[in-house]
Amino acid sequence: MGHNPSSLWDDVVPRVDPVRCQRCADCPPMASCSAQAFRRDDPDGIPVIDEGFCFGCYSCADACTYGAIILPRQAP
Ligand code: SF4
Ligand code: SF4
Repeated sequence: MGHNPSSLWDDVVPRVDPVRCQRCADCPPMASCSAQAFRRDDPDGIPVIDEGFCFGCYSCADACTYGAIILPRQAP
């Protein structure tokens, strides 16, 4: 999976809600992301989504049981 051109994918990339995110020890969305766009450098921190790799499949949103993945159409 290559690096996406910027802006083309801006309207499809979800984000992690820092309030809803529980910073789970096991974060299923990371394993669900076939693009390796859903990452967490700090094992105790909030995951981040690399906009350059995300292609908007939203598997991560389905995998998070806390509803912490906000889809673009839900964003304010
Ligand atoms: S994104 Fe969801 S599964 Fe992952 S740490 Fe946050 S609340 Fe937990
Ligand atoms: S929308 Fe798909 S590609 Fe983007 S971070 Fe979530 S699982 Fe990965």
